[in-house]
Amino acid sequence: MTCVKEFLDNLDQSNQLTVCMTCAALGSTHSYTQCTVSELHEVRFPVPAFHHPTQVFTDGMLLYPGSHRGGIGLLCEQCWQHLQAGEVPPQVLSNGFWIGELPGPLESLTLTERILVTR
Ligand SMILES: [Zn+2]
Repeated sequence: MTCVKEFLDNLDQSNQLTVCMTCAALGSTHSYTQCTVSELHEVRFPVPAFHHPTQVFTDGMLLYPGSHRGGIGLLCEQCWQHLQAGEVPPQVLSNGFWIGELPGPLESLTLTERILVTR
C-alpha cells in the first residue's frame, strides 16, 4: 500500500505544471529549480523595449505575474543554466517575449504562435 501511495505521489508531482518566472515557459514542477527573486539580480535583466499598463515589475524586473510568492519562484532548466553561468536567459520576458495574458482559446498556442498572434 505504501508503494502505491508513493507511486501516486510521484505521479501527481510529475504531472503538476508550473510556469518559469522569467520566461513564462510551462513545464513539470519537478524539472524546475527553485530560485529567489534576489538571486535574479546576479545578472542584469534588460529593460523592455516597450511598456504596457498590464506589465508587472518585481524589484525592477519583468517577471511572470503570480509565478513567485514571498520572493521565491521556479525557473525552467534553460533559464536556470544561464543564470548559473552569470548570463541573462535569452528568452526572458523583458527581452521582447512579453505578450501579456491571452484569451482562453489562445492559451494552447506555442510561444512562436503567440508572438505571431500578438503582432
Ligand atoms: Zn525560463
